[in-house]
Amino acid sequence: MLERQLVAGFVLAAVTVFGCKDPSHSQVPATTDPATTDPDPDQPAADPLVPVHLSFDDAPRMDDPGTPLRDAAELNRLNDELIAVLQDHGANASVFYNCDRLVPGERTIEAWDAAGMTVGNHTASHVNLAEVGLEAWLDDVRRCDLVLRERLSAPPTWLRYPYLSEGHTPELRDGAREALAAMGYANAHVTAATTEWLLAFAYRYAKQAGDTKTQAALVEAYRAHMLGAVEAARELARFEVERETAQVVLFHVNELAVDHLATVLDDYEAAGYTFVGIEEAMADPVFTREDRYVGGGGISWLARIHDPEQPRPPYWFGQEEGRLTEAFGHLLNPNAYASE
Ligand SMILES: [Zn+2]
Repeated sequence: MLERQLVAGFVLAAVTVFGCKDPSHSQVPATTDPATTDPDPDQPAADPLVPVHLSFDDAPRMDDPGTPLRDAAELNRLNDELIAVLQDHGANASVFYNCDRLVPGERTIEAWDAAGMTVGNHTASHVNLAEVGLEAWLDDVRRCDLVLRERLSAPPTWLRYPYLSEGHTPELRDGAREALAAMGYANAHVTAATTEWLLAFAYRYAKQAGDTKTQAALVEAYRAHMLGAVEAARELARFEVERETAQVVLFHVNELAVDHLATVLDDYEAAGYTFVGIEEAMADPVFTREDRYVGGGGISWLARIHDPEQPRPPYWFGQEEGRLTEAFGHLLNPNAYASE
């Protein structure tokens, strides 16, 4: 009963705040309904008030092939700076650890925890469930769980699947889900499935090489990508469930975020997005919808709930990965700057 009331309340609030863009749902003639007319270019866009949760994978820092980071002081600095940016924006974020990447002397888990952020499990060694099978994958989850339990003020309750892969068969998907629930974990879904890691690798190499022009181009692409991802996820939400939903955005702990997350968060605030914690985001009833996807792909939750018998809209996130690879793929090699 409570759940039904919550659902009804959420839908009502969503309709009240966002308006209904389908003229058939409106009692007002379409020509006088502002929600159905083209936006006036002289007027600022209406404030959409979309709840957005910021989540960061691959803590304590995303490794890239060119520059693995094993220095505890540097890890502490990177994570502290990221936390400070989030606190400046009043954002209650989540961060997901690969526990094998921890090094002696590092205290980043405690720093996130003390800042009131949600610390979750991302498996010890970032293994893909579809590749290693259920038992090996669960062992990896448990290995990280032990570390997090030891160091957090309360047991971890959120897990983010590496590569967002929940296995390529129903047996794997459902087996993992059952085992995780028994361990006390819930799935920290992603709706805005970004590819900023690609920009972050290129950014790191450009920064090391002192190439400020390329860095500037990558920062511009980063801002456009992170804004575009939320817009695409909102469009997908309106397509699948005919309303705005909470959005969960995927970032990674990387130098690009440390240096430029503040600008992205300014962009989000300018777009009218409000930052919410993971509990509030996951309370959106869209996350109780049936998961209708079986496959190893790391796709948005809003694509997983799609009815496979209905036509699927173009998948922006896949297209965007292609665009970014085409534009910046040649910069993904740390030696790209060796001769410059
Ligand atoms: Zn990851």
